[in-house]
Amino acid sequence: MKNKIVVIGAGIAGLAASHKLAKDGYNVTLLESNSQLGGLGTFFKHNDQWIDKFYHCQMPSDDPLLKLIDDVDLTNQLYWKPTRMGFIVDGKRYSFNTAIDLLKFRPITFFERLRFGVISLLLRYLGKGKDLDNLPIEKWFKDLYGANIWNKILKQLFLSKFGDHSGNLPALYIWQRLGREKNVATRGYLNGGLKTLIDSIEKKIKEYGGEIKVNSPVKKLIKTETGVEVVLENETIDADWVISTIPIPQFVNTMIETNISKSFNDPKLTYQGVVNALFFLNRPLDNFYWIPVVNSNTEFDGIVEMTELVKKEQYGNKNMVYVMKYCHRDSDLFLENEKTIAERWKKQLISLYPDINFTEDDISDIKIFKAPFVEPIYPLGYSKIKPQMKVPDTNIILATSAQVYPNITSWNASTGLANKAIEYLYKLEKSNSEKKELNKAI
Ligand SMILES: Cc1cc2nc3c(=O)[nH]c(=O)nc-3n(C[C@H](O)[C@H](O)[C@H](O)COP(=O)(O)OP(=O)(O)OC[C@H]3O[C@@H](n4cnc5c(N)ncnc54)[C@H](O)[C@@H]3O)c2cc1C
Repeated sequence: MKNKIVVIGAGIAGLAASHKLAKDGYNVTLLESNSQLGGLGTFFKHNDQWIDKFYHCQMPSDDPLLKLIDDVDLTNQLYWKPTRMGFIVDGKRYSFNTAIDLLKFRPITFFERLRFGVISLLLRYLGKGKDLDNLPIEKWFKDLYGANIWNKILKQLFLSKFGDHSGNLPALYIWQRLGREKNVATRGYLNGGLKTLIDSIEKKIKEYGGEIKVNSPVKKLIKTETGVEVVLENETIDADWVISTIPIPQFVNTMIETNISKSFNDPKLTYQGVVNALFFLNRPLDNFYWIPVVNSNTEFDGIVEMTELVKKEQYGNKNMVYVMKYCHRDSDLFLENEKTIAERWKKQLISLYPDINFTEDDISDIKIFKAPFVEPIYPLGYSKIKPQMKVPDTNIILATSAQVYPNITSWNASTGLANKAIEYLYKLEKSNSEKKELNKAI
């Protein structure tokens, strides 16, 4: 048997890493603090259906994730569908898909519509040679597009996740994505939702001899002579290597007063969380998958009409709509009782569709889910302080969503990162064993 490796966190990064390690013959243990696997991709039972707590879809360009889906024999369960985008500004709904839609987009002037189209086409070129990692996105975009386009379109289109912090994000975060998300209108979904994928990865890990422990939060990591001691509530595991996929603040908690804390240069990131409401409806709302909402007297700033992509049978023949607000885990909204959020957001959602006679009777159920750690708020110059893959002087490798920057966090990005972390681990192992051989020979 090869080395003992402990993987911490069973979101997609931890699942993908454990799957590859177990397949390659390593003695792997995957530890998850929650009772369920999947991290931000967890699910709940509603009547007889398993439903994703947070809306998720796949993109045709998700190469590492699609490869993983294939490795666990699920490619035939994946389907693709063209989807459309809407926009709600000042309480009015717009289609936002074609050049004609842009020309009809009244929240900005006719001249601004032309400016938006032309600058967007040139943006990839305009960013070349600029130090975008140190340039605040708001400054760059306001200079290029003007304040109205920034406020009415761009902020919401790309940055609603970051709330009040969005303007200060490095411009690189957006620029990196331009021209890459080509098939944005075509989205994919797995029959049965994320649970299908998580269950299949779990099954494969076990078949390959890997071990998975839920309800097992890692409390402490201690450096030893040959590896890392992983301390759980009632047990300690000696690992040759640790791969940690948990958010950085939670990783830092495992090093308090241990001999590892000095090795890790904590970037002290603030994370956005999310409050997400699921509406089970007896009717569709519109024919858009994604709808940013601007200045329309709602607390949530986006709507995802999931049944534009997913078959209604997945939701007990209901139409499924998610609405979301990204916020800090200490904010009043995040801490508020689920029932009162549901009551308020129900009225706000109804207020956006006066023309289609959408009423309370059309809503059969509402569920609220929250997640405290979704995405770091990247400071300017983040490329320089982004955590390295290996914690110096330890056998700990990091594969956490804070490292996918400047790419957007996603199941694909986390899977790609997990693959890279493992390749790196294999290289380190190889060079360590070569050094040992050399020492023996001397
Ligand atoms: C509302 C919403 C919508 C999204 N939509 C999409 C989408 O459409 N497409 C897409 O690809 N992505 C989407 N994402 C992003 C995607 O969910 C994340 O990028 C991805 O799930 C991150 O996976 P991860 O494994 O890196 O981290 P996580 O999923 O955060 O996993 C980390 C795991 O570590 C565990 N953990 C934490 N501390 C400990 C500890 N001490 N010991 C043991 N375990 C611990 C946690 O419980 C968790 O299970 C969305 C996210 C949200 C919130």
